[in-house]
Amino acid sequence: MSHDDCIFCKIIAGDIPSAKVYEDEKVYAFLDISQVTKGHTLVIPKQHTKNIFETPPEVAKELFERIPTIANAIKNTYKPLGMNLLNNNGEAAEQSVFHLHIHLIPRYGDGDGYT
Ligand code: 5GP
Ligand code: ZN
Repeated sequence: MSHDDCIFCKIIAGDIPSAKVYEDEKVYAFLDISQVTKGHTLVIPKQHTKNIFETPPEVAKELFERIPTIANAIKNTYKPLGMNLLNNNGEAAEQSVFHLHIHLIPRYGDGDGYT
């Protein structure tokens, strides 16, 4: 179910343009508009859920099952040395978009700008 006032639902629908990294029937991945490092990607379920704690286990499973494939696509393109996975839940934890998303943050060693 998409939510009319959710920017990530609009991105999935194609109403807001995005740089697609991966898509299938359950999951969409795209470059974060504000790249903390080169290749910074957001992975989201097509089903709208607010955060990881309110996500049905089946939806979370489908999302996490795809992450290695998506990470491999990022690795092939950007050749990072490592990668952080980040998930913010709640405003106090710096969640700013309330559609579940996992940040994939490629790391390039000292001086890649991400702390
Ligand atoms: P949060 O702060 O909720 O963990 O992460 C939300 C992320 O969504 C931020 O890193 C922000 O840059 C990204 N973002 C917000 N609006 C857009 C948008 O319209 N397009 C893209 N590609 N990323 C967005
Ligand atoms: Zn949404």
